[in-house]
Amino acid sequence: MLQQARFERISPNLWNETQCTDRILEKTQKSKSTFSFLKMRFIREASSQSDSPETALGTNVTTNLLGYDRDALTGYFAELGEPSFRASQIMKWMHRRRETRFDEMTDLSKPLRRQLNETAEIRGLEAVSESISVDGTIKWLLRLDDGNCVETVFIPERTRGTLCVSSQVGCTLNCTFCATGRMGYNRNLTAAEIIAQVWHACSRLESTVSKRVVTNIVFMGMGEPFYNCDSMIPAIRLLLDDCSYGFGKRKVTVSTAGVIPGIKRLAEECKVSLAVSLHAPNDELRNELVPINRKYPIADLMKACRGYVASDRRSRVTFEYIMLKGINDSIWHARKLVRILQGVRAKVNLIPYNRVEGLSYERTAQDDIDIFRDILLNSRIMTITRKTRGHDVNAACGQLVGKFHDRTKRSARLAVQ
Ligand code: SF4
Repeated sequence: MLQQARFERISPNLWNETQCTDRILEKTQKSKSTFSFLKMRFIREASSQSDSPETALGTNVTTNLLGYDRDALTGYFAELGEPSFRASQIMKWMHRRRETRFDEMTDLSKPLRRQLNETAEIRGLEAVSESISVDGTIKWLLRLDDGNCVETVFIPERTRGTLCVSSQVGCTLNCTFCATGRMGYNRNLTAAEIIAQVWHACSRLESTVSKRVVTNIVFMGMGEPFYNCDSMIPAIRLLLDDCSYGFGKRKVTVSTAGVIPGIKRLAEECKVSLAVSLHAPNDELRNELVPINRKYPIADLMKACRGYVASDRRSRVTFEYIMLKGINDSIWHARKLVRILQGVRAKVNLIPYNRVEGLSYERTAQDDIDIFRDILLNSRIMTITRKTRGHDVNAACGQLVGKFHDRTKRSARLAVQ
């Protein structure tokens, strides 16, 4: 069993291919304490496998430290015989000052710097392109070591700047209105690849004249984040740690299509804001739009959401609802939505649909969106209509596609239909 757990943890790609993520999530949960002493080593092995292909071949023993959270770094330095405060020191260098050269880290001893030069590295992602929308939204296409590319989007607003990060290369879920879903799936991102998106955005923004800053992070890019908890959770810990990014818990949001075991795991391990892509108020319609609903139907999902915010009276779950003309936008749908949200501390984001090539869905007219919104507001459900941003550079909600080899062959199947 030990061997099996180890295999699952160090093989994130296969972990998803097996499509038994939820079972593993539950098993990992039960086995957490048993394996905690091995965690650091597993993370390290996983990181060396996926961050540095050469390492796996044994030709170049370097470890990319970028995705290591405080625990992992403390363990890493303990193995080198170094005190735990080295973790704080190197986190500040890596994430606050974005320094990649160990030789410049002047508060580390010279022998340690030498050792790090030989065994470790700090490596981000290469930007293939940067597209800037007329409204100021920026989309980056970032290349991973294996040639796949993911997209990351920065959305500037008057008082904040939101960064939308990807958690997977593609997505295994096949939400029918989403461009990413149509592209199929390749693999999970490592923690380093997730945090590298934040790293890249922060350094790019810093170098621009406007000097915008990232104030909020949302896991709403490519992929279902709860199918990649083992990378996402260390990445969130880095986002929250005062020695790296220091975001408040309410400033980091994980958005799920409704993977209930993931909601429970996040509540136990790293509670940040939760968003749920709901898009339909009844199972029949949601099964069609968000097929994972067949596994986690609405009643169970609402129960998990109630549990998530139960202990904190100030927190709410955000429900995202994409407005599809003639599909889910009638007065009947609005009233049904009010009923299913009874008893859930909720906030609803109505999202005007952004066209995706090859799909026949259309956006609901603004007047009808307003009627829908008013029904929710009159029932005392906090509701906003999200402004469409970055549409002209295909950076709006549901439009991200990246560039990758689809191992599920879904994109090819859909192309011939
Ligand atoms: S909406 Fe989210 S979960 Fe659904 S296919 Fe797109 S990326 Fe995946």
